Amino acid sequence: MNILGVDIGGTNVKLGIVTEKGGIIEHGLLPTPAGGPEAAAAKVAEWYGGRRKHHGDARAAGIACAGLIDGVRGFLYTSPNLPGWDNAPLGEIFGRRLGIPVAVDNDVNCAVWGEYVMGAGRGTRHFVAVTLGTGVGGGIVIDGRLYHGAQGLAGEIGHHVIIEGGPPCSCGGRGCLEALIGSASIAARAVETAARTPGSRLALGAGLTVREIHEAALLGDAAAVETLAETGRLLGIGLANVVHILNPEAIAVGGGVAGAGDFILEPARKSMKEHLIGDILSAVRIVPAELGNMASFLGASMLALEKQ
Ligand SMILES: [Zn+2]
Repeated sequence: MNILGVDIGGTNVKLGIVTEKGGIIEHGLLPTPAGGPEAAAAKVAEWYGGRRKHHGDARAAGIACAGLIDGVRGFLYTSPNLPGWDNAPLGEIFGRRLGIPVAVDNDVNCAVWGEYVMGAGRGTRHFVAVTLGTGVGGGIVIDGRLYHGAQGLAGEIGHHVIIEGGPPCSCGGRGCLEALIGSASIAARAVETAARTPGSRLALGAGLTVREIHEAALLGDAAAVETLAETGRLLGIGLANVVHILNPEAIAVGGGVAGAGDFILEPARKSMKEHLIGDILSAVRIVPAELGNMASFLGASMLALEKQ
């Protein structure tokens, strides 16, 4: 039997009918309705109702959602992208509307599980994934299971502190990995670097995106290359911390910023190795994530299957 996968973001709900092996039979995109989780669940149920006629009943649904979520209870504490959704029992709401078993987890955890089952983490037992974008997220698989922690909130790799008293972070802290390598910080660093690099294409800086920095790096722009290398160097410190604590077989790096590829990953591998206590730990593979923006909804489906 198939599975219904759903990825709820602030703007859109991505959803689809997925086979037990992760093949996408049909997928769709709905605008996230105003009216909170009940309205969203009703919309998803309507979409699913239309597809059931063609594809039959789904055996379960996996719901990925941005925000602080207790994945064990299927409870959303709060989501910066979904105002009015605070303290929502998503598992209960979607289960009632859909009439099938529902698994709920944080969108990053779902993406990590997707990568673990059918992407960059295939074949491992101990796996970590980090997503780099506006924010920096993470998720952890230990001995073949997604690790949730005591309150379901484990894996906040973006908020471990790299530089005490460093730049302010979205969480209210300072010097977190996210404060150093979130996309806004990368853009700010690029502008600074370009200002002291004669002839840099990045000199006009306002509104600069990481994609533009990457494009400039591909054309050999020294300030762009330096900015991405510094991003990788800081990421590498964070990865070394993760490796010391978890000793994973592989760490996948995904998200929009990771589109800069080896301009970030090579310096990250080098910096990580410099910070590791022993050569043996550097057996960990630092690899690009493979599932792109399908990772959360595919991972949610695979997680629903796992929890059945
Ligand atoms: Zn933080």
